[in-house]
Amino acid sequence: MKATSFLLFSMLWLMLIGLSFYYQVEDDKKYGQKIAYTQAEMFFRHIVLMRQWNAGHGGVYAPVTEQNPPNPYLNTPDRDVTTSTGQKLTLINPALMTRQLADMEKSHSGIRFHITSLTPIRPENKADAWETKALQAFVQGRQSYEELSDIGGQSFYRYMGALVLEPSCLKCHNGPEHKVGDVRGGISVSIPSSSIDDFLSVRLQWLQQSHLLIAAIGLMALLVAYWAQERLNKRLTKARSHLQLAYLDSLTLLPNRRYYDAFVRREWKRATRHHYPLSMIMIDIDFFKAYNDSLGHVEGDQCLRQVARTLRRYFRRSGDLIARYGGEEFCVVAACDSLQIMQLAEILRTAVESMKLPHPESKISQYVTISLGVATLIPRENIEFGDLLLHADRALYDAKHSGRNRVEKYRG
Ligand code: GH3
Ligand code: MG
Ligand code: MG
Repeated sequence: MKATSFLLFSMLWLMLIGLSFYYQVEDDKKYGQKIAYTQAEMFFRHIVLMRQWNAGHGGVYAPVTEQNPPNPYLNTPDRDVTTSTGQKLTLINPALMTRQLADMEKSHSGIRFHITSLTPIRPENKADAWETKALQAFVQGRQSYEELSDIGGQSFYRYMGALVLEPSCLKCHNGPEHKVGDVRGGISVSIPSSSIDDFLSVRLQWLQQSHLLIAAIGLMALLVAYWAQERLNKRLTKARSHLQLAYLDSLTLLPNRRYYDAFVRREWKRATRHHYPLSMIMIDIDFFKAYNDSLGHVEGDQCLRQVARTLRRYFRRSGDLIARYGGEEFCVVAACDSLQIMQLAEILRTAVESMKLPHPESKISQYVTISLGVATLIPRENIEFGDLLLHADRALYDAKHSGRNRVEKYRG
């Protein structure tokens, strides 16, 4: 893994963790809201149940106390009674019971509920702005209404359920304007959002910690993978450079004779299998001893490098190769026929001559020149690849003895 890939994967990983964190937080918020509204709805249903019980009994009597004075808004003949022992009792109808329960709950848990309608008899039952909105929604046909809203600057999950007139209600609400199924008003239940937020913040902390841990584990795993890959790469590079050194001529940076031999052997086998011709050129710099003697070995090395650089330019195909054979000799192997190899040899000879490297001691030119021996064979089972080398060497001998700076073909 490269450093850039490591950075990319790390960023992707962190993005993934970030996304997971974001969606889980959002999901938890929705979940918290759902819990709050479900809780409020359950509250509402309990109150309705208690009201039904109360209405079913036509209201219940309780002793008159300072906290439980007679209900001034209740117009029934038996609102206040006195028992045979002289105790004063007053009738508590569902509406008053709801109010009293609301007062008790408010002081217990902070959860508020409020019985209200658009036309309240008791002024305390007047709807606030949000409740009015909900009651108007009931007029439009909705049965419940829920929203996050403020009461006195404090945030609440607010739920309101519609109060529907039931047969038991007609005992008291017996005017002609009342009929079963009418929406009389509603009871709003308000749960402080802080109670849900506390629960959410604990969950958020846990999510933060778990995501940080997962992110760190992922990054560590990536780091370990990166480190292991780096180590492997270093070892591979080292091995490769050792291998290169073993097969490379350090002076000319051409493949050396060891590589050449292995390459020819492989190509020979392939050509034997597919029956195509293999050609070879042996190249030798003319009067190189004299070059060294006159200009020195350092110049001689420089000349070898320059000749190698020039020759190398003509070898791009994977089936062709030029190598330093030894001393001032180079050799070429190419998968081509005798005509093509003769053309290539001539191109190489001209290329070196055209370099115009001065050679003060050459007997045939004022510049450095090369002689080339060329041979071609179609490999068969009974022919050794050494034969091709021998033929090229013989051709080179001919080139030397017929004047140098020329290409000679093996003639058998
Ligand atoms: P010919 O035209 O017949 O090839 O004559 P020649 O002088 O080139 O041939 P010879 O075999 O007599 O001499 C080859 C010389 O090449 C001898 C040696 O000093 C020189 N030589 C071989 N390897 C190197 C090398 O790595 N660096 C230098 N500077 N000279 C080298
Ligand atoms: Mg030689
Ligand atoms: Mg020579």
